[in-house]
Amino acid sequence: MSENGHKVIEIPSTLTVRDLAERIEASPIDVIKQLMANGVMANINQQIDFDTAAIVIEEFGFEARPLAPPEAETVEDEATAPHWRRMIGDEAPASLERRPPVVTILGHVDHGKTTLLDAIREANVAAGEAGGITQHIAAYQVTHNGRPITFLDTPGHAAFTAMRARGAQGADLAVLVVAADDGVMPQTREALAHAKAARVPVVVALNKIDRPNANPDRVKNQLSEIGLEPDEWEGDTMIVPVSAKMRQGIDDLLEAILLVADSVEIQANPHGKVLGTVIESELDRSKGVVATLLVQNGTLRVGDVVVAGVASGRIRAMFDYQGKPTEEATPSMPVSVMGLSDVPVSGELFTVVDTEREAKAIAGQRRLEEQESHAKPRVVKSLEQIFEAIQAGEVHELRLVLKADVQGSLEPIVNSLKELSAGDIRVNILHSGTGNITENDVLLAAASEAIVIGFNVTPDQAARRVAESEGVDIRVYEVIYRLTEDVEKALKGMLEPETHRVVLGQAQVRAVFRIPKVGNIAGCIVTQGELRRNARVSVLRGQESVFEGNIASLKHEKEDEREIREGFECGVGIKGFDSFQEGDILECYTEEKVAA
Ligand code: GDP
Repeated sequence: MSENGHKVIEIPSTLTVRDLAERIEASPIDVIKQLMANGVMANINQQIDFDTAAIVIEEFGFEARPLAPPEAETVEDEATAPHWRRMIGDEAPASLERRPPVVTILGHVDHGKTTLLDAIREANVAAGEAGGITQHIAAYQVTHNGRPITFLDTPGHAAFTAMRARGAQGADLAVLVVAADDGVMPQTREALAHAKAARVPVVVALNKIDRPNANPDRVKNQLSEIGLEPDEWEGDTMIVPVSAKMRQGIDDLLEAILLVADSVEIQANPHGKVLGTVIESELDRSKGVVATLLVQNGTLRVGDVVVAGVASGRIRAMFDYQGKPTEEATPSMPVSVMGLSDVPVSGELFTVVDTEREAKAIAGQRRLEEQESHAKPRVVKSLEQIFEAIQAGEVHELRLVLKADVQGSLEPIVNSLKELSAGDIRVNILHSGTGNITENDVLLAAASEAIVIGFNVTPDQAARRVAESEGVDIRVYEVIYRLTEDVEKALKGMLEPETHRVVLGQAQVRAVFRIPKVGNIAGCIVTQGELRRNARVSVLRGQESVFEGNIASLKHEKEDEREIREGFECGVGIKGFDSFQEGDILECYTEEKVAA
């Protein structure tokens, strides 16, 4: 209860009239009436802001209190299978054994990802060996308390998500590096969204604690704001203070990684079918193709025949991350191998087959498919297609990556989108942020079969390119309700193809005639192009369009005409509109549907 006896109720920064009515258990009609009494014309689905809501509900005996805005970032995926399940084929649960976690390092630029990777590598490679590492492969292993941990040596969520876009799930766990003197930054949020979309758990390395202006508490607050509640505050995110530069806290970080890894039970069958991911590969002048592979199931051995995308071949030699020859690689082990015919792409999956002939056949078939797919445009996962997948029961949510010009427009959009759902289908906003649509946004969408939605922003060049090559649908809007309407239609399968307006001509209203029983007719002269009966028309007054509809009648000197050309006079009637004014411009157009 508030001082004036009003019941206190929490209200979000924006909400629909319907939602407001539900919260105060009033009829939406009464709420609309109250809004009208306050000069606000709103329908039941309209968004109103906190201040308006506060005024209205006072009349109902409530006092509004602001509700913390809902977290725009991810909603946890409902799928129950662990994230690594699809990387091990269809192994029987009984055959699974624990394997080392594979860790990727994410975070904002300059927060210390590279330094941290170096610190971890150095701290855990026996002194004598450190100097002996001649080649650097794109992944390495360290041991902590006798247990190995694999680190992917390409930091950043772009690399991580590019790999996912190819179908691979390289990492089991992400270390999110946040500088204690700088805090949560745009790429911190972005990285978190990417990790969540991949459903990998996150451990935070609170780096640069040696800096005099480090402020761990402030950063912890920021982290809890983005959904990473510190475990010391009863949350479930481990936040480990480290100094990558001073080599402090590294052991604690490794300890935390193992704890989190144990909680998600990372497994594989070391005796099963060999499956894994290509981490990196290059053509070496003397050695031929050298590929860094991460084994994720089974055991890879020298002499095995490997197929990776369109590359294939028998493994001639295999080396561990330190460059030492090795005969076999078990799950989570990164190795560099020689013997492949071509340079496979990072993120490509590999597997082992029985004979070189079989490998060549598979690779050859893929090459053919690849050529064919190059010949025709990539299949765009458009809103329409995603709806088809939803209908077929393949997809249970519509995933979106949302970018807007300013924070102020983001919130109402997120709120209205979250309210949309049809049956069991829900809207999952993988990431939302301000700024133009970037390559990373598109990659995230590609990896998660999502759609990118922009509000008052455009994709940059790189984003456009990736969208085209990966087949990602980018939709840009300038009006919120159009945006939500499209998403709603997509959910209900009613999305119409985009229409394109083709202007046929314009006429200027010179006089208005009243025809009894018919209404007003505009006496016009066609100033440009032509007017066509049955076409669409827009009534322009000054800069504004005051009506859009269909031409009902078109006459020239009392004769009905199909069309009237430039320079001729005519009488025009419009369905559902007759308040013409002299000087109005009638713009006649048709709408052409274009496949999205
Ligand atoms: P990245 O862009 O995230 O890979 O960041 P870098 O690892 O390149 O680090 C950016 C800068 O921060 C470099 O100048 C590092 O020396 C510095 N740096 C990284 N970690 C620490 C740390 O723990 N303490 C301090 N004082 N500086 C650090």
